[in-house]
Amino acid sequence: NTIDITTPSKKYPVFIGDKVIDQLNVVLENLNPSPKNLLIITDENVGNLYLETVQNVIGDAFTYETIQIQAGDDQKSFENYMTCQSFALNKELDRTSVVIALGGGMIGDLAGFVAGTYMRGIRFVQIPTTILAHDSAVGGKTGINHPEGKNMIGVFHQPEAVIYSTDFLTTLPGNEKRSGFAEVIKHALIADENLYRSLRENVKTIDDLKGDSLQQALIQGIKIKNAIVTQDEKEKGIRAYLNFGHTLGHAIEGELQYKGITHGEAVALGMLFALSLNEDTEILGQELKMWLTTLGFPSFPKHLSASSLINRMKKDKKAEKGMIQMVLLNGFGKPYLSPYTSEELESKLSSFIGEI
Ligand code: NAD
Ligand code: ZN
Repeated sequence: NTIDITTPSKKYPVFIGDKVIDQLNVVLENLNPSPKNLLIITDENVGNLYLETVQNVIGDAFTYETIQIQAGDDQKSFENYMTCQSFALNKELDRTSVVIALGGGMIGDLAGFVAGTYMRGIRFVQIPTTILAHDSAVGGKTGINHPEGKNMIGVFHQPEAVIYSTDFLTTLPGNEKRSGFAEVIKHALIADENLYRSLRENVKTIDDLKGDSLQQALIQGIKIKNAIVTQDEKEKGIRAYLNFGHTLGHAIEGELQYKGITHGEAVALGMLFALSLNEDTEILGQELKMWLTTLGFPSFPKHLSASSLINRMKKDKKAEKGMIQMVLLNGFGKPYLSPYTSEELESKLSSFIGEI
């Protein structure tokens, strides 16, 4: 399966399916100019599992260097960015060289940012290894975290290709499956009622996320993301709808210092809050909550205070003129932006935390 992604700045393929990692060499051989060398950036978990497979596919067709960093979102840091840049300079990568991002969204964002800024930007290929990365590998946003906030530093940089070998997903731990699945649910809620209904029907436990049905869900998710990004590459308008669940989700992740909860698990709580804010989606929110609970999603961390969460939401990149921009739904596939004052949202959030 191939999905063509077209943005105003670039066109590139997403290869998706069992063992499509074999496409890597085809992609590399078709690059013009041919890369002098490659830099594979991965994390220790993914490296232990799949680095050898990837290196075997490359074989001796290209020279490559490999850098493995620790796993975890706190590794999307200035320190690792610097380490990668120094490594690239020491290994004499030039403007023809290509970065290979082998990993989940953390590696994709970091490696993409390294590629996007090394010598003012060199090419990169995404090899996503998480369900979540169906989202992060498409769209061209790359970046790292700043102590003041997540994803605060970055560039838009589109990959040459995305090679999504779904056989790599079988080793994902349950909480990471949930994390990625939350983003699939997000895509369904903002754009595709049928997808939502079929997922609801077919995914009764987290272990149902496999095989053809997982692949189809990922393909639909990528298509939805692509459709939105194509219309709004630099997030001037409707791309903001992709932040559904994220304003509160990011605040929860931040308050918990990115520990004990995955990105998507936090976004899922953010989606439930957003659904509670419009009376037309209140019932949908309650149904979603029951489904998420049976899938093992964590409940709301009740020790978090509404006021500290709201403080974080005010600092969100999307906050404007002191108003917090929430993405809400007028029903399936009908996202809209709704600005709140922090006082108003804090009182809604307090009652949500009390009731959920
Ligand atoms: P991640 O890359 O940290 O991966 C999660 C964990 O799973 C890590 O411990 C990793 O080592 C492990 N792992 C990865 N693949 C595995 C596999 N196949 N088998 C076993 N373990 C595996 O996190 P993620 O959830 O993939 O991505 C989250 C990141 O993506 C966040 O930093 C978020 O900000 C970013 N993101 C970016 C965009 C974007 O548009 N650029 C969109 C959404 C999310
Ligand atoms: Zn997300």
